[in-house]
Amino acid sequence: MEELYRTVAQLLVSDKQCVALTGAGISAESGIPTFRSKGGLWEKYDPVVYASIEVFNQDPSKYWTIRGDFIRNYDNYEPNAAHYALAELEKMGIVRHVITQNIDGLHKKAGSRKVAELHGSLRETYCLSCGKEYLAPNVPDGTPPACDCGGVLKPNTVLFGEQLPRDALETAYQESSTCKTMLVIGTSAVVQPAASLPSLAKQKGAAVIEVNPQKSFPAADYYLEEKAGIVMSMILNEVKKIQDT
Ligand SMILES: [Zn+2]
Repeated sequence: MEELYRTVAQLLVSDKQCVALTGAGISAESGIPTFRSKGGLWEKYDPVVYASIEVFNQDPSKYWTIRGDFIRNYDNYEPNAAHYALAELEKMGIVRHVITQNIDGLHKKAGSRKVAELHGSLRETYCLSCGKEYLAPNVPDGTPPACDCGGVLKPNTVLFGEQLPRDALETAYQESSTCKTMLVIGTSAVVQPAASLPSLAKQKGAAVIEVNPQKSFPAADYYLEEKAGIVMSMILNEVKKIQDT
């Protein structure tokens, strides 16, 4: 197993042009609850009623009510070793972009700067009237927060019925088709468009490295079967060893 980590680290150091695709699995170790799983948010609330753009436009308090109930302490969640390792690999010039399906904002919180958030970020909101951006406020009673101008603040996350943000999407395709290595971390990527990105990278000649407790990409060139925090710390260590010699 250690041999495998060394091989992957060597690949990253020599190719450098690495892109990481991440999903819920990377944030599970930070304690981020998943929405779709048993006991998750969507078991308690019907997402079509509470988190669709159609309903939001009619009555934003529905969305802000469940948000207050469920995500009140969102700021308490911290990035874990895997997020920090990716941020450090970016500083070292090895990881050039992170593409994530997560909306928890933990990559940016860990210090990653190039992040394409395919489903937006829970930490950010913007005014529907003037576009001014704000960090997401806590709204325990569900009263929709207002902008200085009086407009309603919308979360900068993709609600049901909304298109994915065009910028993030374009970046994702661009980065996936030009990287030399792709780290696929904590995602089974059954949801499009993320599901197609590793195949795209591979088609264009990149080596795909999967980090998952359960194998999801039969076409991956390397498979590291462990939790993301453990694997990414090991890889970072190996990279440092190589660079020190
Ligand atoms: Zn405004």
